[in-house]
Amino acid sequence: MTTPVFLGSEIYRGSTYGSWHPLRIPRVSTVMDLCRAMGWLSAAQYRQSPRAKPKALTAWHDPLYIEALMRAEETQDVDDATRARHGLGTVANPVFPEMYRRPATGAGGALLAVELLRAGGVVFHPGGGTHHGLPDRANGFCYLNDPALAITALRQQGLTRIAYVDIDAHHPDGVEHGFKGASDVLMISVHEERRWPFTGALDDDGGGNCLNLPVPRGFHDAEMALIRDMLILPALAAFSPEAIVFQCGADAVTDDPLSRLCLSAQSYWDMVAAVQSLRCHRLLVTGGGGYNPWTVARVWSGIWATLSGQDIPDHLPQDGEAILRGLSWAGHSKGKSPPATWFTQLHDRQDETPIRDIIRDRIALLSARPAAQGVLP
Ligand SMILES: [Zn+2]
Repeated sequence: MTTPVFLGSEIYRGSTYGSWHPLRIPRVSTVMDLCRAMGWLSAAQYRQSPRAKPKALTAWHDPLYIEALMRAEETQDVDDATRARHGLGTVANPVFPEMYRRPATGAGGALLAVELLRAGGVVFHPGGGTHHGLPDRANGFCYLNDPALAITALRQQGLTRIAYVDIDAHHPDGVEHGFKGASDVLMISVHEERRWPFTGALDDDGGGNCLNLPVPRGFHDAEMALIRDMLILPALAAFSPEAIVFQCGADAVTDDPLSRLCLSAQSYWDMVAAVQSLRCHRLLVTGGGGYNPWTVARVWSGIWATLSGQDIPDHLPQDGEAILRGLSWAGHSKGKSPPATWFTQLHDRQDETPIRDIIRDRIALLSARPAAQGVLP
């Protein structure tokens, strides 16, 4: 497989976690529409994400949990015991009409991606990246953990060097739970400090295979570029992975309502281009968080353009602009009168800002670890 593949699904169109939930907004469907409007997504590049079978999900998840999740979708109800045991029917993980089928489609996409990548290549799966899911519990808006299922499937193909990189604003506690201490999985996460789920501290090395870099509020492009060049790329190059799973949650950008980080879309695209330039045999790029309908659409559409080698124009043509003008963001003050640039361009270049010492110090500390030299426990 040489041409990058975009995995999408119509299940995301119109599906919502409820009118008050941060995931009430459209995300993957907007990216599909915008990429098509831009002429970036041909029928040959697009693959529909299949829904994973329950049995396939039990490669990482507890069968009793999968049963409970399916039952909750079917009955649209959760009893107290199930809520306590499996975290379903909560504020973060509510009952909603597609609460099993939608995450099972995300999981099915991750499993299809691993299958497609058997022969090598690049897959973009914006519906994936649900990195908080636990084996027997819904957690942090995630009902299943598709990155964990992907890593498990890569292992089943016989791979012994798998890298997981995560630049979502939140620490991937579910993925780390699944693979901490593993000698075949290198995990690198950059996430906001003192933010839910409050895991992934600087000194949490997961038993030797995890590089956790918490960053302070105001974290910006120049700081991310330094982390990329001084930590992430060297660690990946040293580890020489057979596969990279790259979670690109879009909630670390300025104007995302759930973080205080200040990356631009350009910062994500530069990161993706840099990881792709390592020419790892298998590259799976997923979505993740992202709670402003305009910023998430712009970040992820630009990621697809980057992966598939297409130029991002300074100003969107009319068809592209129309997709972004068609979005709304009820229940958030920033949705009332969005700036024109949220409709007219994907770029949001940032002024050069000084890199803080705390970032340099943390990079130095992590770079000295064996995992940063590709040596796992
Ligand atoms: Zn997040």
